[in-house]
Amino acid sequence: MAVFLDLFKYDDLIEIFHEKGCKILKNEPLSKYTTFKIGGPADLLIEVGDVHRLTELVKYIKENNVPFFIIGNGSNLLVSDEGFRGVIIRLCGDFNSVRLISDNQIQCGCGASLAKACVFALQNNLSGLEFAWGIPGSCGGAVYMNAGAYNKELESLLQTSTYISSDGEIKTISKENMALSYRKSIYTNKDYVIIDMILKLTPDDPDEIRKRMYEIIKKRKSKQPLEYPNCGSVFKRPGNGYYAGALIEKSGLKGKSFGGAMVSTKHAGFIVNTGNAVCEDVAKLIRHIKKTVFQESGIMLECEVKTLGKVNLDV
Ligand SMILES: Cc1cc2nc3c(=O)[nH]c(=O)nc-3n(C[C@H](O)[C@H](O)[C@H](O)COP(=O)(O)OP(=O)(O)OC[C@H]3O[C@@H](n4cnc5c(N)ncnc54)[C@H](O)[C@@H]3O)c2cc1C
Repeated sequence: MAVFLDLFKYDDLIEIFHEKGCKILKNEPLSKYTTFKIGGPADLLIEVGDVHRLTELVKYIKENNVPFFIIGNGSNLLVSDEGFRGVIIRLCGDFNSVRLISDNQIQCGCGASLAKACVFALQNNLSGLEFAWGIPGSCGGAVYMNAGAYNKELESLLQTSTYISSDGEIKTISKENMALSYRKSIYTNKDYVIIDMILKLTPDDPDEIRKRMYEIIKKRKSKQPLEYPNCGSVFKRPGNGYYAGALIEKSGLKGKSFGGAMVSTKHAGFIVNTGNAVCEDVAKLIRHIKKTVFQESGIMLECEVKTLGKVNLDV
């Protein structure tokens, strides 16, 4: 009953954007949209397929003070068990496109997966994105996070990104204005919707590109617990030559679990969902890891994973 009453306030929004052809799901469980397979329902989840409708939706939401959140592939996201009281926006349709715009530049819609961008680059004999092969995010999430692996970050390829600002304006900014650093960008903690990015790549022999992609996925499979739902590295690298995984392992926490959440026995930097984990199991484990690692090493780990809804990760 409470949920039904809650949804009343969205009647106008649902009517307007349903008529405009957006797919709207009520009370949609977010566990379906996160690689952790964790998360309660969102009041509304709206899939938007073109920039015109997206701009209108952002404007409507802003004018009516509706809480909203952009979800990519949910591969760096811990969503509370109560879910989210507001609107989740997912980019689809036009935003899934990846295209060649010059000999060595590709334009990627932010709903497209990084995997799609990697394959497209390979098919066009363009090198540079191999490091991202196996990162299960969207292009939007990759810009937001400045995704990186094996000593390379998206920053090294980014030329521009385009976003819809809080006032519904479409703006394009160059790499220099994106404030890119380790797992951070100008978009971090802002409510802009990133809609596309342009990457500059380097022509290369496709066999060589394929070989490098193969080596990277082999490394990932041997080191990461890909057989369980997870969110990638839970913590950021603390710097000064320290690695979160090594600190957690040294603190004796490999295999430590609360409910269905467990520190991976394969890679201590990962928390895995062994089957029935809820958000609070993961949050409790994160708090326990932070506290124990701090006691053992004096280093306070900082989370890389983003949260949505009421999630307490503080110790
Ligand atoms: C097995 C595994 C391996 C991983 N390996 C790596 C790795 O090697 N390197 C690495 O960097 N990461 C890694 N990750 C983490 C994750 O894949 C990246 O952080 C990725 O960039 C997140 O993209 P996403 O689309 O899933 O974003 P989400 O998890 O959906 O969202 C993350 C943040 O980005 C924001 N966001 C997403 N799309 C948009 C948009 N269009 N506009 C505005 N904001 C947006 C969200 O609001 C949220 O705050 C891994 C994850 C897993 C599960």
